[in-house]
Amino acid sequence: MSRVVVVGSLNVDHVLRVDALPGAGATVLARSYEVALGGKGANQAVAAARQGAEVVMVGCTGADGGAGRLRAALTAEGLDLTHVATSTLPTGRAHITVDTDGANVIVVAPGANSATVWPPGTHQGAAVLLAQLEVPLPVVSAALREARGAGVTTVLNPAPKCELGSDLLALVDFLIPNEVEVEGLPLDGFAGVVIVTLGARGVEVRVPGSSPERLAAFAVDVVDTTAAGDAFCGAFAAALAAGSSTSDAVRRANAAGALACTIAGAMPSLPTAAAVDALLAGGPPPRG
Ligand code: ADP
Repeated sequence: MSRVVVVGSLNVDHVLRVDALPGAGATVLARSYEVALGGKGANQAVAAARQGAEVVMVGCTGADGGAGRLRAALTAEGLDLTHVATSTLPTGRAHITVDTDGANVIVVAPGANSATVWPPGTHQGAAVLLAQLEVPLPVVSAALREARGAGVTTVLNPAPKCELGSDLLALVDFLIPNEVEVEGLPLDGFAGVVIVTLGARGVEVRVPGSSPERLAAFAVDVVDTTAAGDAFCGAFAAALAAGSSTSDAVRRANAAGALACTIAGAMPSLPTAAAVDALLAGGPPPRG
């Protein structure tokens, strides 16, 4: 059984490239404008599917053109979208303004993501449930509680950073924050495994009762680190669902995160299982 249920956001990203980020009250002309598909939920679902997991997505879109593009792309990735509902709200959007140094300002309009519901019983047949925090907390909590209660392994990527109670964390088997997100989490007494992603410095795995273990990042030619964390979380969930040990799943995730840095964009950069296998086997990181 290698099914992963992903509860999370589906967004259309509008990327504007500018010479310098505008301040309050300023209007600037963009050098370029692209539309891409994203949302942490959709990215992580695609990341898990490319690693060979059977992925069921739980989320919500509008009934607009963005939703059509998302549904077509995610269906082509083999995702089961039965539990992606349609709302009268517009599909979630992120407006991402990036300057020539790569610094960015991002505004997310959650739209239909805020109407996401957890359909009871959706965890059935799954090995792993994977969630992030771009959908309402009560939805994440309901999904984690039901899955956990049924013996499904729960994984939470607590991103974007927000305040979490220890009652919610108590429902999590594997917590995967980055260095910023881990600050301030109420982890005293947390019984699960904490996997802190450290960007170019790799990853630290904290298993209760053991000393923290560090894994260095793979040395790759970095083009764009967008979605490195999403590649990591999706690959980790897929590996666990396929029966890997925690340390093997972290190794695969570390490789997937590195590979995502070698290609521009979010979804286009999420690696396949073959690419991860090749990097782990010591081959050159595949391109494209
Ligand atoms: P996020 O994108 O959520 O902020 P990180 O930046 O910590 O997450 O990256 C997630 C993972 O991706 C890291 O733990 C590592 O495995 C991989 N990664 C990120 N940046 C690099 C890099 N520059 N070189 C190699 N691997 C990287």
